[in-house]
Amino acid sequence: MKCFYHSDREAVGTCQTCGKSLCRECAEKYTPLSCDDCHREMIARSRNEREKAKQDALIDTKAELIKATVIGLIFGIINLVFFGLQKDSHGVPMFKPHELVQVFFLGMGLPYGWALTSHFMPLYYGLSEEGFFKALVLNALKFGLSLILGIPAFLYQIIRLIVRYVLVKKS
Ligand SMILES: [Zn+2]
Ligand SMILES: [Zn+2]
Repeated sequence: MKCFYHSDREAVGTCQTCGKSLCRECAEKYTPLSCDDCHREMIARSRNEREKAKQDALIDTKAELIKATVIGLIFGIINLVFFGLQKDSHGVPMFKPHELVQVFFLGMGLPYGWALTSHFMPLYYGLSEEGFFKALVLNALKFGLSLILGIPAFLYQIIRLIVRYVLVKKS
């Protein structure tokens, strides 16, 4: 049998994919044994797969970014409505207008601060009678820490996702 590409040469092997006969020179080009056509096709396919994986990663990252922002907005608004806009017993607003921005941002960061403190502080359950007060104090401490760490934790999440998006896009 002759080589598919060189009709003057004896075939020594066949393409593993399509079975074309290949001469020694053609057979030595690729491992596993492949003809030029199948090799080209394989390269194109793996490039397509890489491109698809990249697109999927971009979509996932964008979805995470939107989710993180929406959760932050919801918590910010909840904090604003149920805490920031409250009035005291004389009907006087508890916060001045410029303080409401801080109230909003504290609420926005809260779920992220909470997730962060949860790495080293669990939620405490005061199940026994004497454990109740201790749990109350520890949970209040966890809540306070969550508020303090919330805004940087939120920003960290957002920046991390944006950096990931840019890196994937450039890859
Ligand atoms: Zn082939
Ligand atoms: Zn050949």
